[in-house]
Amino acid sequence: MTLSKSWVASANDANHPFPLNNLPYGVFSVDGSEQHCGVAIGDMILDVTTAEAEGVINLDDEPLFDLPFWNPLMEQGPAVWAALRARLTYLLAEGSEEQDKVEPLLVPQNATELHMPFAVSEYTDFYAGRHHAQNVGTMFRGPENALPPNWLHIPIGYNGRASSVVVSGTDIRRPWGQLKSPDQEKPAFLPSRRFDIELEMGAIVGTPSEGPITVQEADDHIFGYVLLNDWSARDIQAWEYQPLGPFQAKATATSISPWIVTKAALEPFRCDTPAREVPLLDHLKDCGPMLYDIDLSVTMAPEGKPATTIARTNYKEMYYSAAQQLAHHSTSGCPMNTGDLLGSGTISGPTKPERGSLLELSWGGKEPLTLNTGETRSFIEDGDTLTLTGAAKGKGYTIGFGDCTGTVLPAHSSPYAR
Ligand code: CA
Repeated sequence: MTLSKSWVASANDANHPFPLNNLPYGVFSVDGSEQHCGVAIGDMILDVTTAEAEGVINLDDEPLFDLPFWNPLMEQGPAVWAALRARLTYLLAEGSEEQDKVEPLLVPQNATELHMPFAVSEYTDFYAGRHHAQNVGTMFRGPENALPPNWLHIPIGYNGRASSVVVSGTDIRRPWGQLKSPDQEKPAFLPSRRFDIELEMGAIVGTPSEGPITVQEADDHIFGYVLLNDWSARDIQAWEYQPLGPFQAKATATSISPWIVTKAALEPFRCDTPAREVPLLDHLKDCGPMLYDIDLSVTMAPEGKPATTIARTNYKEMYYSAAQQLAHHSTSGCPMNTGDLLGSGTISGPTKPERGSLLELSWGGKEPLTLNTGETRSFIEDGDTLTLTGAAKGKGYTIGFGDCTGTVLPAHSSPYAR
């Protein structure tokens, strides 16, 4: 697969995140105007809502893009997804006969504000990265018992809060919570002192399902992917999580990148999961390459200071694919809906600079990081900006996601007196 050329000149740069090969879906506004659905192409956004209203895009008798989220398209399923991508590719390709109709529908990206690209139906988060589970398990239970006994058989997860999912750029308020370290006799209610990131990918369910689906069906149902930062209060988590798992530690916020990168754009980057350490039961077995080769990185910038890259890894380090996670999620009969968001779990690679959380990078605070500014960090301090980036590299082109960024604000002086 090579670069597909567009008449939008900025889209033809090998390092630009939004070439014609990508065509990611977002929601934008200009100067507080009505929010519209849009497609990123180079430095521009094609206003899909207006394109449909003017008949330039016409997929259905009923409008699909008159609401400021992509769910109406997502629920249509793969045939309509492909029809839209084909139409957009035709309209924006070099030599398009409809360039004159499309040019007035382009808006410069730097004049827009980006919003949540879809309405999150429900949010589930997994714990399916092998190196992350090994690292965290080693810190808490020692290397012999690092992996829970179920870990190599099912992608374990918990039901999170759709209400807490926010788009990149949203400030994150440091949470208060009940904390108790092992050396304290009683818990105390305080602002979290061990506030952290989790570098993840989010898979978005397009086609709904009722009852169990296969891994192949699950892959077919996935609409696209975003970068996802599952903000995590480690000290709240350590006290609350037994025996039902994370609750308030993960409920402050989860940030996602503003553009949905479709499965179609990622098709050339499919790759296999790592070798199975024990065979999976038949219903979860791999049936094709369902992970993706996507380079990921995390930067941290103290307030008013330049950023330091603190981690680099790749989505292919996951042990379970999103398709396996979605198939597992459905085994009980759990209905899955358009707009369900599945967090992959923290993505860490085998070496120290590849760890996708500060908990791992600073080894529980025992080995603080030194930033390029000379400052050290074990966990996030007030004013720090954390940014996730992702890019799949093709021959002469890049599939980017747009940054997933957030700045941590100081905790309120008292959460009950604001
Ligand atoms: Ca997580």
